[in-house]
Amino acid sequence: MAHCIIRIALDTPLNSVFDYGWPHEEGATPQVGQLALVSFGRREAVGLIVAVVQETEVPPDKLKNAIAVRDQLSPLSPQWLALASFAADYYQRPLGEVALPGLPKNLRVSTTVALDRALKKMAKLAPPGDPAPTGMPPLNASQQEAADAIGGAVGFTPLLLYGVTGSGKTEVYLQACAQVLARDPQAQILILVPEINLTPQLEGNIRARFPGLMLATLHSSLSEGERMLHWLAAHQGQARIVLGTRLAILASLPNLKLIVIDEEHDPSYKQQEGLRYSARDLAVWRAHQLGIPIVLGSATPSLESWHHARTGRYRKLELRERAVRDAVLPTVRLLDMERDKPKDGLTSGLLAALRGRLERGEQSLLFLNRRGYAPVITCEACGWISNCTRCTSFMVLHKPEHRLRCHHCSLELRIPRHCPTCGNVDLQPLGRGTQRFEEGLSAMFPEARILRIDADSTRKKGSAQEAFDTVHRGEVDILIGTQMVAKGHDFKKLTLVGILNPDTALFSQDYRASERLFAQLMQVAGRAGRAGLASEVLIQTRYAQHPLYAAVVRHDYDRFAGNLLEERHQAALPPYMYQALLRAEAPELATAITFLEEARDILPTDAVTINDPIPMTMTRVHNVDRAQLLVESPSRPALQAFLKEWLSLLRSMKTRVRWSLEVDPLDI
Ligand code: ADP
Ligand code: ZN
Ligand code: ZN
Repeated sequence: MAHCIIRIALDTPLNSVFDYGWPHEEGATPQVGQLALVSFGRREAVGLIVAVVQETEVPPDKLKNAIAVRDQLSPLSPQWLALASFAADYYQRPLGEVALPGLPKNLRVSTTVALDRALKKMAKLAPPGDPAPTGMPPLNASQQEAADAIGGAVGFTPLLLYGVTGSGKTEVYLQACAQVLARDPQAQILILVPEINLTPQLEGNIRARFPGLMLATLHSSLSEGERMLHWLAAHQGQARIVLGTRLAILASLPNLKLIVIDEEHDPSYKQQEGLRYSARDLAVWRAHQLGIPIVLGSATPSLESWHHARTGRYRKLELRERAVRDAVLPTVRLLDMERDKPKDGLTSGLLAALRGRLERGEQSLLFLNRRGYAPVITCEACGWISNCTRCTSFMVLHKPEHRLRCHHCSLELRIPRHCPTCGNVDLQPLGRGTQRFEEGLSAMFPEARILRIDADSTRKKGSAQEAFDTVHRGEVDILIGTQMVAKGHDFKKLTLVGILNPDTALFSQDYRASERLFAQLMQVAGRAGRAGLASEVLIQTRYAQHPLYAAVVRHDYDRFAGNLLEERHQAALPPYMYQALLRAEAPELATAITFLEEARDILPTDAVTINDPIPMTMTRVHNVDRAQLLVESPSRPALQAFLKEWLSLLRSMKTRVRWSLEVDPLDI
């Protein structure tokens, strides 16, 4: 039987499954999970076979035949297909749009040259080697307990590894991996990290520990050729450990036996465009479906995971102390900027601490989440400020590049010589970004080796890694950086962390801002004193009485999270509420709002709460106005059921407004 109809998911919006004929007499019948080349409209496209059937509703004269089936590649497993369809269903997107973009580009082209070459290369590689680890340091008691709990877990077991910064969570993961790999000669393990910058460090650790095993990495900075090889290594079961960023959650892993999500609270696990999925949430689903353990590690777990741990859905494993002998958590002190007036943005307290480090040859890290020289320039004569003409935002001064840049729409202008309204030539920068601190510090400490790491200083491929290596080699005295430097890195000689200007986040409208600020401060504080040298964290603030800072000073995540959960409960916010956000974009705000009002009224219901449309906080971006409508319910199934019905109505609405739906939004 080679005559059949193959049902194929294609990466197209709206309906994404189409029937094609397969008339060939010879050769094997196509299988579900294989890829096939078909003609679609005027182009050729590679799709995923989701069913093989005998009949179709497409009339015979309309039915096109598929061009080729990629039968040199083993089919994607039913479990993988189930994951993709769950994601499509849950995030209310067409299956093809979920399943196909995650595959290497070279698999989705009309020729098989790249695929055949990659397959040949993979066939020549040695079979998966010896899983025996080398150089495992002895664990402390709580690490051992955690590693055994993970390594010995049977069936679906979500574990929250709650360990202070520097408590040796990595070592726990590696030892748990060793146990799983030793037990099952085929076992594969998926390890996710939030940032691409963190993969090389962990990759090095894994390779050193498991020299006989094949490791694959999956992240956005691989070349297409590399991505193909690494994806195949995972798909064919050769790679025993797969390390990647959020997109790796959709990797094909036929023998997956353990999932590790490091820094599980990190917002980078949420994709913010297209399919807006949470890799962490999908990972938990995947573990549940496969009946395997999953570890979520963090020093500051997300409130969602913390809530699950408190209600017993997740098992909590705790590491209360730093792993390196004599390493203790840094002392955190607040520097009150109302009393100690800063000069060039730096209080005398912080300057004295920096001087001390320079004298002792220790490293300092200054953290500021604002790149550029100054967030805005202004004319003091007439009050003109450098607004972006296309967005509700400012043009940021980038002094070394002689440019004004909008960080939202990428508009770039030369710095004006005089004020565009009154002609005044004395335009002043207002506020401070990383570049301005770098300039000030270089003037104050001409003998110090100062390095700035932010998105601007690391534009070139490989330059971020180079910069981090310089710090690790001890060739930097003062490192200044954005969140890029806050996470994960283990800088041995770092004994001072200065937090320059965290206050703005205290008064954000976003209800998640304080959770995020707390996590960020604990993360960056955690970079200090990891190798046993006494260390401190100094926070410059105008709100020294704020309870959030008091919690940071005490390193008291428990109490802080408990209070936040109580507030969320009172205010009926996640994790006690499930939300979805309908966003609309139009050249005029009124158009977007009108669309959302129609959407609000299209499906009357008591099952969920539909709020009124409001403009987004940053209303205009790149000449487009944006508004949103929040739908919520304390019941996830109720929300899901409503969304399904609602979306089919929305799709049939005739509108020129661009809209999108996000389930479990992070920013509202
Ligand atoms: P975390 O991820 O919890 O912040 P890491 O895994 O980076 O912490 O570990 C912090 C430091 O502790 C690393 O330098 C690591 O090599 C070291 N370390 C971890 N476990 C042990 C141990 N059992 N004995 C000695 N040093 C350890
Ligand atoms: Zn002016
Ligand atoms: Zn702009």
